[in-house]
Amino acid sequence: MTRWMDDVESIFKEDSRINQILPDYVYREEQVNLSLAIARALEKDEFLVAEAGTGIGKSFAYLIPAVLWAVQTGKKVVISTKTKALQQQIVEKDLPALRKILDLDFSYAEAKGRENFLCWNKYHQIIAGKKRLEKEELELIEKIMRWAEETTTGDRKEVMVEARLLKKWGIVSAERQTCFKENCPHQEKCFRMKMIKKVHKADIVVTNHAFLLADIMVENRVLPEYEYLIIDEAHSFEREAFDKLSVSLVFSDLEDLLYALYYKDAKWEKGYLTHLKRSFPLLQMLIGELEMLVDKGIQLTAKVKSWLDKNFVSEDDTGFSKVLGEKEKNRFLEEDFLHIYLEWYDTLQLICFKMEDLQREMEVDDEGWELTVFIRNLEQELDKIFTLLEEDIQKSDKIIWLQFYAGRVRAISSSSIATGEILYEKLYLKLKSLVMVSATLAVEGDFSYFISKSGLLLFNQEGRLNTLIEKSPFMYEEQAFMYILEDMPFPDNDRFNEELAEVVSGILDFLPGRILILFTSQAQMKKAARLLRPICDSKGVKLLVQNEDGEAASLVNEYITCPNAVLMGLDTFWEGIDLKGELLKCLIITKLPFRSPDEPFARAASLYFSLQGQNTFTSFMLPDAVIRFKQGVGRLIRSEQDRGIIIVLDSRLEKKAYGSIFKNNTPVKNIKKLSQEEFKRNVAAWLGFIL
Ligand code: SF4
Repeated sequence: MTRWMDDVESIFKEDSRINQILPDYVYREEQVNLSLAIARALEKDEFLVAEAGTGIGKSFAYLIPAVLWAVQTGKKVVISTKTKALQQQIVEKDLPALRKILDLDFSYAEAKGRENFLCWNKYHQIIAGKKRLEKEELELIEKIMRWAEETTTGDRKEVMVEARLLKKWGIVSAERQTCFKENCPHQEKCFRMKMIKKVHKADIVVTNHAFLLADIMVENRVLPEYEYLIIDEAHSFEREAFDKLSVSLVFSDLEDLLYALYYKDAKWEKGYLTHLKRSFPLLQMLIGELEMLVDKGIQLTAKVKSWLDKNFVSEDDTGFSKVLGEKEKNRFLEEDFLHIYLEWYDTLQLICFKMEDLQREMEVDDEGWELTVFIRNLEQELDKIFTLLEEDIQKSDKIIWLQFYAGRVRAISSSSIATGEILYEKLYLKLKSLVMVSATLAVEGDFSYFISKSGLLLFNQEGRLNTLIEKSPFMYEEQAFMYILEDMPFPDNDRFNEELAEVVSGILDFLPGRILILFTSQAQMKKAARLLRPICDSKGVKLLVQNEDGEAASLVNEYITCPNAVLMGLDTFWEGIDLKGELLKCLIITKLPFRSPDEPFARAASLYFSLQGQNTFTSFMLPDAVIRFKQGVGRLIRSEQDRGIIIVLDSRLEKKAYGSIFKNNTPVKNIKKLSQEEFKRNVAAWLGFIL
């Protein structure tokens, strides 16, 4: 072992400072192994993909070598997390503790999206009475005034107001479209600029995947140059890249923008142009022309939408996506659409040109800048239209999909089918060392799926990529049981929800709360909630259903404070929830988390693997579902003291050949199959372990 590796290892010794500074510190071989593998990757310019089971202490395992490396070499290390919660924990708890543990003076900074920061310019315009506010917007300003004058970061996370007011944060946030850039009179004080300066000076930069990916897509304009990158919660990195690489034209956004410029009905004329007409009587003619163009733009947008509705309308009346096939894409090249499209695009472009003419004529700073914001926003919408309908629609490595709402087209989007290849070109190639770590990356001990999907194949072939699995130190054989109800109807069977309600009802008689139920579809969760709500009410149990009773974060807070609660949730709850100890005793998995083949991400991945001559089920659908299942199961045991039960209601786990792959990939050792009858007859006995 090199001196460098010795340095890293010595930090973890039980007689070292770590034991004094971290009250719960326990020496774990798995943590040290992971840390040494990361230290080696940094030293040897290698890539590392590591699965670190829950409870290993992976954040300290990478922070220790990262900080030592940055201090010893003077090279910046960037750390990226999926969740803001983990990003915050690293910045507010782990790194300050590490300063004491290492007794080293190193610097660190948090890099996050500009929408998190207060914009001085917007704030001053509001305070000067230059913007009319709605009631809640005014309430927000009154409540943040004192904070705004005192804050040194301008970070929204410091603002303590009710969620309904925080929803209005956009009126003061430092968004790109409304930024005056070098013309801003407050540039010196700008909180976002301060964040960027701090990030450029720091040894360690802590960011999140969304910010990191957005920065890659704009050719690394915000983050400083870096060659050492550690990606935590890496299981979702490529999925997030798919979203970040997508382009979406939301019709209501375009319409809102046009309406904000000018809108007339039988009685009124409204909008920014109407206001300008009053302030600049000499420019009436030019403004009048613009108003007519905006009106035409609104009508043509409606025409495009109704063409889409007529050709692709869905009978589904809720959120729904439809990926377009080749034949459907070709409809956009036919005469009837091109005729509307060209007039629509030209009109929107003409509105931009005319607004630029108007801006030159006005020569008034404040008004001129407000017009600039309109121009930028409309240009952005035009860019999206061009990318979607003139470029991506013709490319074989892109998929195009429509999103519907209430049976009408809401948006049109596109993304790449080969996200991994883009990550390879735009990110990995410039790195000396990359560490990707998560509790769930491997399938049956094999990383092939993750490596290929994430675009790391070439590094693997070159021998520059190492893999590592460190198992969770938890004693799963003593801490958890899994029951599979082998005769449940398949989840798409009409009887499934009734049986589910009966099973849950039986459990509630002995365990009235501390239960999490995971679903894969909103529609199914809704149906189950309809049956479960009266049952819960009659037993004095509070049912908290995602999107029905509140947003994910507020529901979790409510669940934590209410001992008699059952929480029902979708995707975010499969991986983004940490309920330790008594907070979670029973986890119910209603369905194996296979993605719907119609989901754009799944369609893109399937297309990618099938173009490579691979079977899409075995190369993508199955490993993807196994990793998500592992994430779901991982919600149950969060500390050495936890004990809990998992009940799986998807009988495919027993009846299908692939069921064994799911079972082999959970850390739970005590797995028992039961009939519903056996379970219901003696619920207390099966739950005895946790009662
Ligand atoms: S530079 Fe941009 S974001 Fe910063 S205060 Fe000025 S307008 Fe706002």
